[in-house]
Amino acid sequence: MNRPHNFSAGPCILPLEVFEKASQSVIDLDLSGLSILEISHRSPAFVKIMERAQDLALSLTGLQNKGYKALFLQGGASLQFLMTAYNLLEKKAAYLDTGTWSTKAIKEAKLFGEIEVIASSKDKNYNYIPKDYKVTENFDYVHCTSNNTIFGTQIKHFPSTSSPLVCDMSSDIFSREIDFSAFDLIYAGAQKNMGPAGATLVLVKESILGKVTRQIPSMLDYQTMIKKDSMFNTPPVFSVYVSMLNLEWLERNGGIKAIEEKNKVKAEMIYTEIDRNPLFKGFAEVEDRSMMNATFNLTDDKLKSKFDDLAQKHQLNGINGHRSVGGYRASMYNALPLESVEALVNSMKTLEKIA
Ligand SMILES: *Cc1c(COP(=O)(O)O)cnc(C)c1O
Repeated sequence: MNRPHNFSAGPCILPLEVFEKASQSVIDLDLSGLSILEISHRSPAFVKIMERAQDLALSLTGLQNKGYKALFLQGGASLQFLMTAYNLLEKKAAYLDTGTWSTKAIKEAKLFGEIEVIASSKDKNYNYIPKDYKVTENFDYVHCTSNNTIFGTQIKHFPSTSSPLVCDMSSDIFSREIDFSAFDLIYAGAQKNMGPAGATLVLVKESILGKVTRQIPSMLDYQTMIKKDSMFNTPPVFSVYVSMLNLEWLERNGGIKAIEEKNKVKAEMIYTEIDRNPLFKGFAEVEDRSMMNATFNLTDDKLKSKFDDLAQKHQLNGINGHRSVGGYRASMYNALPLESVEALVNSMKTLEKIA
């Protein structure tokens, strides 16, 4: 099978062996004779899958036995924009505005209380991470976005606060070692770095829940989902299953520490070429560059069709930048092999030769 290099920002590339095992299980799950798609979500086979996925999410992040629960919910990271506020916002929360996804999170949270944007990088079209800010007051929580998928920036130093810390880690969870226990609630849509679209991982410290006075509908209440082990209603079984396979793949391959080393090599390779090649320029400030999504542009727009032809010839899939940034974006999630980045860099070098 001929597989193009897949730089898609999301849904994203997953390891081929995960696709292979998942496709087998669509026909016959672990020699049961039944498909993963037709068994009851209450069957022992699926309950085991859900528990394994939750255990892996907690153990890979080092959050086991620290008062956290792992939930697999529906509605994407976008539902978490409001669910976090619904469950945690009584009076006032602080938000770091670092891009499109932060902005959307702020918009939803405003429906539930007062929001203070403590820092924003909107003045430069979000090409950097704000640093000179202080979290002063006692907030119900402080919200940040660890990796800005669209703009290609990534937080290297997280806000320090005594308030609960909430983080949208959709596009860099499981990609680098950080102190996950510094956060009280982490959420991530599966389809960026964990699995197929449809499931959203929430890692939540139980002790921060149950403090708001409003009534919360069952489906939007983290406590319901904890009580029912993410099975208050039918969970997104296939997405949870493939996420489990992918987390098993990550564990087999040395966990976050080992994958971070590989991710560093890939990122360094693309950024070195962006900085070296006079035909390209990076979008994000150097110190805030994302290891997952590299955003860059041509220095001369007239070369666009030439570069696009090269990209097509070398099967570089999904490198067009988001419309709010333009140019190009190479997403280098965990499963993207080094050879794909090499192919992209070689195309950039070829453009320099033929331009
Ligand atoms: C893609 C993305 C989202 C939105 O995810 P959905 O699951 O599509 O709702 C939110 N935050 C970040 C950082 C993202 O990259």
